[in-house]
Amino acid sequence: MKVLLKNIGKKYEGREEFTLRNINLEIDDREFCVILGPSGCGKTTLLRMIAGLNSITEGDLMFDDRRVNTVPPKDRDIAMVFQSYALYPHMTVYDNMAFSLAMRKESRKLIDERVREAAELLQIENNLYAKPADISGGQRQRVALGRAIVRKPKVFLMDEPLSNLDAKLREHMRVELVRIHKQLGTTTIYVTHDQTEAMTMANKIILLDKGKVQQVGTPDEFYNKPVNIFVARFIGSPTMNILEGEYKNGRFVSNNNTIKLTPSEEDRESLSAFEGKRISMGIRPERFVNDDTYEDSFKAKVDVIEMLGKEKTIFAKLEDGTDLVISVPGHHEFIEGESHSFGFDKSAIHFFDSETGNRINP
Ligand code: ATP
Repeated sequence: MKVLLKNIGKKYEGREEFTLRNINLEIDDREFCVILGPSGCGKTTLLRMIAGLNSITEGDLMFDDRRVNTVPPKDRDIAMVFQSYALYPHMTVYDNMAFSLAMRKESRKLIDERVREAAELLQIENNLYAKPADISGGQRQRVALGRAIVRKPKVFLMDEPLSNLDAKLREHMRVELVRIHKQLGTTTIYVTHDQTEAMTMANKIILLDKGKVQQVGTPDEFYNKPVNIFVARFIGSPTMNILEGEYKNGRFVSNNNTIKLTPSEEDRESLSAFEGKRISMGIRPERFVNDDTYEDSFKAKVDVIEMLGKEKTIFAKLEDGTDLVISVPGHHEFIEGESHSFGFDKSAIHFFDSETGNRINP
């Protein structure tokens, strides 16, 4: 099913400001859409409006061609999975999964088919007669998913479903969720504040900040073409380096003159309107080149090195004390306290208008 949000807004009673405003989003059938943003940006509010648990103050919410603004949750053909999965402790895994279908008075045969099918998909066939207390946290989260899957909804709505799991299990369940989504093909809307979850699972990401949409796009677009400084810094770990400066005589000159850079020809075209103006330059940690033969190379002091295995993160300082984060392959050798020359991969530089924060280059 396709979910369409047209100019959706939300103002809670008793609040002066709108919590969300002008939300436009098209989620195609079978898509895995992630609603991403920092704490308090309105992600859960938006998901609950789609679920019918929060009223919609303005705009239209469409499920295919049907306007569902005032349709009660039970008639929306959706299933929700939350962070706290609240299984019934006295019931078996089987009964927990069967519960909603039993309440709907479905036949025993249908319930049994659905529960076994979901258990197989979730790889918990051998735990069907265990009680929640006797299975692991990851298995309990699977049961919570199973409860949603047996209902065969048109849309899954998930609110931080993995955040109670430890790091390893979370990584594993990310892959599992993607696998399950591929198999079922059900439209999924997933809320998280974790950019890694968004980048690894989504077909489409919507990033919110303070109730406003910052960008809608694929993970690729978010990483390589962030529309503003907020998006640039929210996506990617370690965070993108952003240097403040000015565009002078066709060059970017950072504050205190520590970095001078002639942008690529393509970038100079879009920067021409910014001559004499304050701009910010962004570069991801892995897009420096470890080589002083590059034009516009610069020296930085290696302050701290973090060895992560396949890569090292170098926390470096420019002459004026500006911090830079540089990622290099794990087998490259650097010594803390020493100065090094680095260059830029010029095809990977992002320029932003310092005043508005908006992206300048294509
Ligand atoms: P988190 O990741 O911390 O859960 P979120 O992005 O999901 O954050 P929401 O829970 O949607 O954010 O909250 C967005 C804003 O709306 C917050 O300022 C919150 O205080 C406010 N808010 C949420 N629920 C209500 C409510 N029932 N009444 C009034 N204000 C609310």
